[in-house]
Amino acid sequence: MKSAILSVGTELLFGQITNSNSVFLSSQLNNLGVDVMYHYTVGDNPKRLAEMIRQAFTDCDLIITTGGLGPTQDDLTKEIAAEVMHDDLVLNENILSELESYFKRSNREMTDNNKKQAYLPTRAVLFDNNAGTAPGFALEDEGKIIICLPGPPREMTRMFEQKVKPYLLKKSECVIYYKMLRTFGIGESMLETELKQWIDGQTDPTLATYAKEGEACLRITSKRKTSEEAKTAVDDMIKKVNQKIGKFVFSYDDEELYEVVGKKLIDKNISVSCAESCTGGLFAQTLTEVSGISAVFDRGIVTYSNRAKIEELGVRAETLEKFGAVSEETAIEMAEGLKRKVGSRLCISVTGIAGPEGGTEEKPVGLVYICALLDDRRVSREFKIRDTGRKWNRNYTMLCMMDMVNHLIDEI
Ligand code: ATP
Ligand code: MG
Repeated sequence: MKSAILSVGTELLFGQITNSNSVFLSSQLNNLGVDVMYHYTVGDNPKRLAEMIRQAFTDCDLIITTGGLGPTQDDLTKEIAAEVMHDDLVLNENILSELESYFKRSNREMTDNNKKQAYLPTRAVLFDNNAGTAPGFALEDEGKIIICLPGPPREMTRMFEQKVKPYLLKKSECVIYYKMLRTFGIGESMLETELKQWIDGQTDPTLATYAKEGEACLRITSKRKTSEEAKTAVDDMIKKVNQKIGKFVFSYDDEELYEVVGKKLIDKNISVSCAESCTGGLFAQTLTEVSGISAVFDRGIVTYSNRAKIEELGVRAETLEKFGAVSEETAIEMAEGLKRKVGSRLCISVTGIAGPEGGTEEKPVGLVYICALLDDRRVSREFKIRDTGRKWNRNYTMLCMMDMVNHLIDEI
């Protein structure tokens, strides 16, 4: 089914509000296997609204509108939808009495224009509004469907989830199943190149790559007659792509890297501590976002100065002098000192140059060393992060730490 989302409201055109409704609807429809072809936005103008609907129907079978369903003069979506779909508005006694009791309950006077909301197209399938007064509806005509939903996001999202979704599921003749794979350490273009043989000329399942901050994601989607068929098709494709990119995948269920790492640490009961320099505690902060991590997370120490590295972790002054604070030697001594001090099974350290100042030719901004010790294993690595600003450099460093831990845990 091809669809268009039509947002109604002059305030959208003025830039006074962000069109969050279209973002929500687009992702919901895609998940349901309904292709979204267009996003239209139109002001509260009857002529242009009618034109937009007619234009969208030349190409689409389904239009979802939001906004303009309320009681005021400028709310015209319902009138125009009825006109385009060759229907009339009539007073719906049920809705009217519901409105009356709603106003009585909330101790507000019902004005005449509120009554306007009880006028609905005769053939409409109604969706009641649990969060407001204006009901939404679906109206069919000559194989085309228009679904009109209220503008306020709180009302619209609830109505969609509770009423519209089941309605659309009944209409669609196939089911959709997808998996969102998340990868770290491979860029989006590289990912696409690796998967070219399946992306070129794809029909079903389809593969789509996305770049996310520091990551590349791969969505594998199948549309079939039954959910078993779709699931099998997606799982088979995952097996194939895994041969190419499996080592970069950290989640098959759209999870964050830190969540994956946190869960593994908890599941395997691995105690963990960290000593951070350039990230200033970001690793500890992010990992402790995982609920239940207190079972394994012991401590994070921010050792920013040389003095702190010496006093807290026992890094040798000679090491700092000879190799510098940002060096593999220092990172290793930080992690080993931490291990001696706290004894966690996993100890990880980081030192680097976050910028924008502090870089030299020999040690540029983005140069980072990470060392992780897990039981009797030790990994230390140099990273040359592409400098895109202090905030990002620090964040990406934290992700590199998570990634290193993730792989290390998989090895044991
Ligand atoms: P009401 O009964 O509240 O008048 P309505 O269905 O007539 O509802 P509008 O009057 O068009 O809807 O919009 C009401 C409010 O909903 C807007 O002021 C705005 O805050 C929000 N809204 C409308 N459209 C959108 C949108 N596309 N994205 C986000 N918010 C929206
Ligand atoms: Mg309104």
